[in-house]
Amino acid sequence: MRYVSTRGAAPALDFRDVTLAGLASDGGLYLPEAWPGLSRDQIAGLANLSYVDTAVAVMTPFVGDALTADELKDLCTRAYGRFSHAAVTPLVQLDHDQWLLELFHGPTLAFKDVALQLLGLLFEKFLTGTDTHLTIVGATSGDTGSAAIDAIAGRQGVDIFMLHPAGRVSDVQRRQMTTVLAPNVHNIAIDGDFDTAQALVKRMFNDPGFSGTFALSAVNSINWARLMAQVVYYFYAAVRLGAPDRAVAFSVPTGNFGDVFAGYVAAKMGLPVAKLIVATNVNDILHRALSAGDYSKGVVQQTPTPSMDIQVSSNFERLLFDLGARDGAALAAQMQGFESSGAMRLTNAQHTGADLFASDRVDLDDMTLAMRWAHERAGEVIDPHTAIALAAARRHESDVPVVTLATAHPAKFRDAVERATGQRPALPGRIGDLFDREERFASLPGTFEAVTAYIAARAVPRG
Ligand SMILES: *Cc1c(COP(=O)(O)O)cnc(C)c1O
Repeated sequence: MRYVSTRGAAPALDFRDVTLAGLASDGGLYLPEAWPGLSRDQIAGLANLSYVDTAVAVMTPFVGDALTADELKDLCTRAYGRFSHAAVTPLVQLDHDQWLLELFHGPTLAFKDVALQLLGLLFEKFLTGTDTHLTIVGATSGDTGSAAIDAIAGRQGVDIFMLHPAGRVSDVQRRQMTTVLAPNVHNIAIDGDFDTAQALVKRMFNDPGFSGTFALSAVNSINWARLMAQVVYYFYAAVRLGAPDRAVAFSVPTGNFGDVFAGYVAAKMGLPVAKLIVATNVNDILHRALSAGDYSKGVVQQTPTPSMDIQVSSNFERLLFDLGARDGAALAAQMQGFESSGAMRLTNAQHTGADLFASDRVDLDDMTLAMRWAHERAGEVIDPHTAIALAAARRHESDVPVVTLATAHPAKFRDAVERATGQRPALPGRIGDLFDREERFASLPGTFEAVTAYIAARAVPRG
């Protein structure tokens, strides 16, 4: 399997190199050259498999010959062995056609563990026996940071520098990052919002001086391997609800468009997906883009769903590329226009081609009502991100089961959950002492100069 950049000007790479590279050198994002397919029989056969075996079956075409079948199975066994539920991503029924897919049973209690536990092991596997020292730089609105840090802490040959917007992640989220004291973990609180932090990371990759000095890599959802790992649970859930004979719809609390794009990939591979509901909070750039073709930045508003408080969705570029006849030069021009003006129109092909998607914008009141409904009617305490998607799922007309992706454990957002339901979720045992642990992080202004100087003083240059 070879991977091409959405902007058409970076070299095609194999799975190993695309995993280590993250962002493409032309500023684009990597995608498989062509979508692999699973036949009806192959999809039907998944219904009998464990999560690990489903993961191997779904990911093998993407990995190609970069890993043997045994190596891939070994990595999946180790990655998903750290989850606290035997099904890894269990389904929970809410009413006759509403379901929750619980993606938060990993070490840091958010769905990002599903991808990052595997990615950490892939890095280690691909770096062993080389003299490359990787410098991972990332920006997080909360959950990516802790999941990436957990996956990378203590690994040989890798340092991780994680930027988070100061004061804009929950106390639990911050402490899950800043209490990891492994010497290869570096937390930086940025004076600014998530988009500021993400723009700084993008600029480091595009800066020839900085990216020439350090072997940079990304763990944000711009990394293809993360999306690949997320495709698995769409298959895992859908076959349990009757696929391939019955289609399933998914409602996805969306920020950077990574999770829901994985659902698009599953559909491209042949999974009968009736609809992908893109649920946004009041930061609704994706809802405006999908419903009206208007992709234009607003001002980021802070909400109780910080992982969705963004106005630029990196992975949306992957969809625009795939729907725009995969014309890298045209997309590069379109994205450059967006980057300079903060706004663009989708082309007709992009707008009408996105008909697998529905979208909805959910405000605070409807989020709260969804949390109450889940608690009072189904006995489930859900986190605010999940509630945004559940509200959208319940408004959506559907004659097939609708699966809401439950992306975070409610204990990560205890104050918001308590306000809505009166229940204060306990921290699960594995992080029960989080508030007694020592924290360590740097506080920096949100400027390129300040952040790169800090990293350069601590990172290991290329060999
Ligand atoms: C990251 C995250 C999201 C958004 O996922 P994207 O892939 O960025 O769209 C939603 N909910 C939670 C809890 C998250 O951590």
